[in-house]
Amino acid sequence: MAKIQMKTPLVEMDGDEMTRILWQMIKDKLILPFVDLKTEYYDLGLKHRDETDDQVTVDSANATLKYGVAVKCATITPNAQRVEEYNLKQMWKSPNGTIRAILDGTVFREPVLVKGVSPCVTNWKKPIVVARHAYGDVYKNTEYAVKGPGKAEIVFTDENGMETRQTILEFKGSGIMQGLHNTDASITSFAHSCFRYALDQKKDLWFSTKDTISKTYDHRFKDIFADLYENQYKEAFEKAGIEYFYTLIDDAVARVIRSEGGMIWALKNYDGDVMSDMIATAFGSLAMMTSVLVSPGGQYEYEAAHGTVTRHYYRHLKGEETSTNSVATIFAWSGALRKRGELDQLPELCAFADKLEKATIDTIEGGKMTKDLVNLYQGEATALNSEQFLDAIAEKLA
Ligand code: NAP
Ligand code: MG
Repeated sequence: MAKIQMKTPLVEMDGDEMTRILWQMIKDKLILPFVDLKTEYYDLGLKHRDETDDQVTVDSANATLKYGVAVKCATITPNAQRVEEYNLKQMWKSPNGTIRAILDGTVFREPVLVKGVSPCVTNWKKPIVVARHAYGDVYKNTEYAVKGPGKAEIVFTDENGMETRQTILEFKGSGIMQGLHNTDASITSFAHSCFRYALDQKKDLWFSTKDTISKTYDHRFKDIFADLYENQYKEAFEKAGIEYFYTLIDDAVARVIRSEGGMIWALKNYDGDVMSDMIATAFGSLAMMTSVLVSPGGQYEYEAAHGTVTRHYYRHLKGEETSTNSVATIFAWSGALRKRGELDQLPELCAFADKLEKATIDTIEGGKMTKDLVNLYQGEATALNSEQFLDAIAEKLA
């Protein structure tokens, strides 16, 4: 059988621990036998990040700006314990943070649905995609502990030294306060990413904030989205037969629960953090959650939403058997290959991505899965180890 040809390389970002083991197996068993794979390889494994003073992470993000599509393995974000474990020169920043800062993107998380692993919310029939604004608000706040009575104010000093003041509270006793911010530039690029991704996926876009209470702050988000929609996206949405819908977050929560799913739900930073964990858990398992970073310039970086599965890796190192779910990482590859196929007009590559996803889902629906899914599965299930699961998919795919 002739292998499927590619035109432009994918940016391949290798990673750490158990997911690094799965990464190589996925390539060897599921991709290389079928595709004449072209990638520009960046080793984001912690050791190599340390050797390059983290330059490799920056280079991989810049390559994504250049080529347009990347696929990323999960990576360790170092903490004090990792600095010791890997004897690091310093506590390098989160690679995802670095990449996101360069691509200026929004993260979209989507669960992979299979029959037999039903969502807790029984009326959900289609995946719900959560789009989280990944800048500002409580994640870049200034906090202050008030020790006793006094006046708290917000002070803004403009370029010319002109001050504006607003009273927050005349404290009668001790308490706490925090200052939050966001920028029009960041909110605008978040909105562009959401509108673009909705068009790309042909899914309705919902957006919700607490604008009734936060009449300046949250209202700005609502206005920026509304302006962009009216002036730049409305026509394309109508043509695609999809809808943009704004509603108060309380109302959105109720509607999402009652819906059959299928929409992209755009949320502010904190709301997205909390809701994405709720949606992931309600759909089944973190190991089945995929993630794509979409930049306002139209670059895509695909990955699994979970981490490097450290506990399984330590077992693997001891020579013990592991049963680590590779579904989200496989879907990162299929997502990236499909996008590459679309951009380069390679229908065969797109079709391969579809077949890879179908073979993965069919394998699970046929009762073969990793241990984490066995407990959730309604039906006869066989628990396979990490490698056997990939072999079962490879057999279906062939
Ligand atoms: P994790 O790797 O997601 O794993 C947490 C636990 O969830 C695992 O111990 C396992 O539970 C279960 N799990 C997650 N993915 C699974 C899979 N594919 N198959 C089966 N079970 C799975 O999170 P973590 O332990 O908090 O973090 C480990 C490392 O990953 C950290 O160094 C962190 O910095 C990094 N991380 C990276 C990313 C990223 O690159 N995007 C994201 C998050 C975390 P059991 O042990 O009970 O089986
Ligand atoms: Mg969270």
